[in-house]
Amino acid sequence: MPYYPYLVIGGGMTADAAIRGIRDVDADRAIGLVGDEPDPPYNRPPLSKALWKGDSPDSIWRTPLPDGVEMSLGRRIQSLDLAHRQAADDQGVVYTFDSCLLATGCAPRRLPFGGDRILYFRTLGDYRRLRALTERGESFAVIGGGFIGSEIAAALAMNQKQVTLIIPESGIGERVYPRSLAHFVSTYYRQKGVKLMIRSSIVGLETRGEQSALKVRTSDSPDESEILVDGVVAGIGVQPNVDLARAAGLAVDNGIIVDEYVRTGDPHVYAAGDVARFFSPALGHRVRVEHEDNANTMGQWAGHIMAGRAEPYHHLPFFYSDLFELGYEAVGELDARSETVEDWREPYREGAVYYLREGRIRGVLLWNLWGQVEAARTLIAAPGPFRPADLKGRLPAA
Ligand code: NAP
Repeated sequence: MPYYPYLVIGGGMTADAAIRGIRDVDADRAIGLVGDEPDPPYNRPPLSKALWKGDSPDSIWRTPLPDGVEMSLGRRIQSLDLAHRQAADDQGVVYTFDSCLLATGCAPRRLPFGGDRILYFRTLGDYRRLRALTERGESFAVIGGGFIGSEIAAALAMNQKQVTLIIPESGIGERVYPRSLAHFVSTYYRQKGVKLMIRSSIVGLETRGEQSALKVRTSDSPDESEILVDGVVAGIGVQPNVDLARAAGLAVDNGIIVDEYVRTGDPHVYAAGDVARFFSPALGHRVRVEHEDNANTMGQWAGHIMAGRAEPYHHLPFFYSDLFELGYEAVGELDARSETVEDWREPYREGAVYYLREGRIRGVLLWNLWGQVEAARTLIAAPGPFRPADLKGRLPAA
């Protein structure tokens, strides 16, 4: 029965960052990692961005893990016994620990039909599968206009594929961007050759005949209700992997609830990354963040705390995306239903969008505007009150 002073459950970026965080504080004691993917930890963002722009697949690997780490890959922890500080995997191995990190991440939401003919894009395995499909197929349907949908549609179009992006909204990113910007982005995608099916959703999928083409049925007007493609990729959101925590009796509510020391209700069990729901002092409520910066920073923080350096996690993570040649960084909550204030240096090419609620800035979108993340964090932390007129030209030149 393996015993590890530190057991990390999950094999993603959060897990990797946590291991390095433990080693920042404790150079010696053994660390075990159990992850269900067959690959060691890798950087996930390039899978939908840089790898489609010519970067080598080898560029995703993180630097080798420090000494004293044992990885058990391709295994899934199935139960957690808090009283005995044990975790059992799907091959019957029971791991004993002093402290344990749940870095179990999220799993894609799935449609009720289509099975594995729909590629729910999330892992390196999914990237490899899509890459193989692009080697023999030319036309793709992409479902969902969030991060995955917009990035993968751009990635495929940049690789000369015919792409139909099917979204329930009337514009790309409509829930995040102000209406005018969502309109601009949608027009921009069309100019780049992406066919947009707006206010539309997939209602069925059939395999068609001898060639392995797929027939996608959509819910819009009858003459546009079927398209033939070689592959279907979906990004329709994710759900936190909380079953293990819930079954162990830990508090779960849209994520595993942790305190400011990323501890669950059990003093020996921590959670971090996409799966953890924590209080954000800057935003004034609990959040769960599904982006790289939070995975890396919260993971490292968890490692420090587990190894004895107790500092509260008050970080306000940033996130970013690439949409063909456009790109942005953002901080806080970007909810297009808030009052938005646009401050363009060049319309839709460079500028900031502020998201206001009750006189406070709750989010900042930095559109092709770089080096301003800290300034945006400062504005979000400021008590205000802010009026729209206060925000014009507010960010310093980079
Ligand atoms: P997402 O960004 O949450 O977007 C999912 C989109 O799909 C939403 O607009 C959602 O609309 C829509 N949707 C839901 N059900 C649908 C359906 N049946 N048909 C069509 N559309 C549907 O999630 P994602 O794009 O799947 O990305 C997965 C995760 O990876 C997210 O956590 C994301 O943050 C992360 N990620 C991040 C980055 C980045 O930081 N740049 C890049 C890639 C992925 P509703 O809002 O109405 O549900």
